[in-house]
Amino acid sequence: MKINDATLLALLPELGVEHEASVSLAEMTSLGIGGVTDLFLIRRDASIPELIRQLDLRAIRHRFLGGGSNLLVADGELPFVVLQLAKPEPDVVIEGNVATIAAAADLGRTVTFCAKQGLGGMEGLIGVPGTVGGALRMNAGAYGIQIGSYVREVRLYRAATRSIETLRDAQISFEYRHTSFEPDDMMLTVKLELPPKPYDEILKGIRICNEKRRSSQPLGQKSAGCIFKNPPGGSAGRMIDELGLKGLSVGDARVSDRHANFFVNAGHASAADMLSLIADVRERVRAAYGVTLENEVVVWSA
Ligand SMILES: Cc1cc2nc3c(=O)[nH]c(=O)nc-3n(C[C@H](O)[C@H](O)[C@H](O)COP(=O)(O)OP(=O)(O)OC[C@H]3O[C@@H](n4cnc5c(N)ncnc54)[C@H](O)[C@@H]3O)c2cc1C
Repeated sequence: MKINDATLLALLPELGVEHEASVSLAEMTSLGIGGVTDLFLIRRDASIPELIRQLDLRAIRHRFLGGGSNLLVADGELPFVVLQLAKPEPDVVIEGNVATIAAAADLGRTVTFCAKQGLGGMEGLIGVPGTVGGALRMNAGAYGIQIGSYVREVRLYRAATRSIETLRDAQISFEYRHTSFEPDDMMLTVKLELPPKPYDEILKGIRICNEKRRSSQPLGQKSAGCIFKNPPGGSAGRMIDELGLKGLSVGDARVSDRHANFFVNAGHASAADMLSLIADVRERVRAAYGVTLENEVVVWSA
């Protein structure tokens, strides 16, 4: 979507928003798939209610982009613009055992920064790419931990009230790869309460998790991590593997040979290739196990 509205474009500098025309989402997502649209980089989060009001006035649809590591984006000219938060400096502030973190902060760097301050708990998240905001939205987790367990409060733009609010942990539910935030809420900052631990101990945990990831995931290839959520009590990857589907391809979209729940873009896969592979694998699992796998990857359709 190309924004040519001169009145809107003239308003952006005073809102602390930068406009970048025709960005390629294929270049901004870890899967390397996606079409083109305009991007609004938000440097002053207090302006978000006004920015969204201006977009709504003009019926311009928008989506929030974090680090792009859990997204499958449609090809071609996209019918929405993308909003992304700029990373402030500093992006993490520690007081006692509470870290206040900007949503745009890189999750991995945040884990290591907190570790150096003697705050642990997030070791399992070390290899999860993307931002802290994306991790909150998805309730990212690995190796028995999930980010939601450490949330004390979240400051966010709430679509329901069109204003910036702060929610306490008791007002938010974090479940397996699911949160109670509304789809149009935008996370801005989070306070995490983290268990104090000696740095050496945290580092040991980080190294163990890194090693587990390296030995089981196709890390050098373009992917969005796990395509499907695990069904209750089961493992999507194990079911796909048992059906002998590793290596199954549609165009350049391919079930990883290394981890059956990772689908990789082995060259120039289109969104249609990847969606068709996802539908095929879902149907084969349904036919064999009677289980309908739910997407973990977030699909931005045209
Ligand atoms: C190699 C690899 C390994 C992975 N391993 C894991 C793993 O072990 N565990 C796991 O949970 N995930 C894993 N993932 C998936 C992914 O990294 C996580 O889901 C991550 O938390 C997504 O963050 P992001 O910033 O990249 O979000 P994006 O991909 O940019 O966005 C994902 C969703 O979050 C929304 N969003 C992003 N930022 C905000 C915000 N500030 N406010 C509101 N909504 C927002 C987007 O609109 C979208 O709906 C992996 C991915 C890859 C590529």
